[in-house]
Amino acid sequence: MKDFEFHRPATIKDAIGLVRDRSGAKFLAGGQSLLPVLKLELAEHSDLVSLADCKELRDIRVDGGNLLIGALATHDDVSRSPEVTKAIPALAALAAGIGDAQVRNRGTLGGSVAHADPAADYPAALLGLGATVITDRRSVAADDFFTGLFATALARDELVKAVSFPIPKRAAYAKFAHRASKYALVGVFVTEAATGIRVAVTGAGAKVFRLASYEAALSKKLAPGSLDGITVAATDLNSDAEASAEYRAHLIGVMAKRAVQALA
Ligand SMILES: Cc1cc2nc3c(=O)[nH]c(=O)nc-3n(C[C@H](O)[C@H](O)[C@H](O)COP(=O)(O)OP(=O)(O)OC[C@H]3O[C@@H](n4cnc5c(N)ncnc54)[C@H](O)[C@@H]3O)c2cc1C
Repeated sequence: MKDFEFHRPATIKDAIGLVRDRSGAKFLAGGQSLLPVLKLELAEHSDLVSLADCKELRDIRVDGGNLLIGALATHDDVSRSPEVTKAIPALAALAAGIGDAQVRNRGTLGGSVAHADPAADYPAALLGLGATVITDRRSVAADDFFTGLFATALARDELVKAVSFPIPKRAAYAKFAHRASKYALVGVFVTEAATGIRVAVTGAGAKVFRLASYEAALSKKLAPGSLDGITVAATDLNSDAEASAEYRAHLIGVMAKRAVQALA
């Protein structure tokens, strides 16, 4: 790992200032994605700006019809939060299924969302629930946030402060997990909300995506059988040592049916 300067500012304002003023600087949250990247020398940063003392970023609360989760809430915080468990139990269950206890104790919602790993779980929840990412300067709909492989709409010095999740009627997440890391080989998040049905898929493509054909079929009848006979093209899906694109296409159907079944 290359040397870097470590900063631990006390306020969000100072954290943003430190990153803005240093072109090689990065925010550091739980370090569960950034530190492996640095150790493997896949990236180099002159400065790491820890958010650890920005305690206000850890808030979890219900605000009207929305569940607001601070960027520094760990996966463990989310999985155990009474507010999350009551408002969106599928989100608490998703957080409980991330990695192992160590990863869940350090890793954060904001870090996961900003890192935008194509196999991460939270992006499926954000897109599936139609969430909004709140940064230090604007609000970005999940539909516009994930722009590509490890790429988001965030500017280099833009801080994710929180994510606002509209509380749905019902939601469920089913994933076929990598046996060691628990990353999604394929994960499907299904939501029934007043605004309609949303289906989001992670792990299968370069970035999380919605599946319009499934949404249309489930809008007619919200039952696993509605997906019978609707094939998903393997053309743009990931193919690697874990699973071929064709296998992932098959898994999307299986996981989607499991998620719909779990809504009941
Ligand atoms: C062994 C292992 C298994 C894992 N398994 C899973 C899994 O099953 N499912 C899953 O979804 N993930 C998994 N992860 C990833 C884990 O969830 C990470 O915690 C997460 O991806 C990154 O969160 P972090 O807080 O650690 O962010 P960091 O590693 O600190 O940062 C990641 C990136 O986000 C940026 N960043 C962090 N916070 C902010 C912010 N508030 N605003 C703007 N930018 C920010 C950083 O600058 C960096 O670029 C696993 C990781 C490991 C090591």
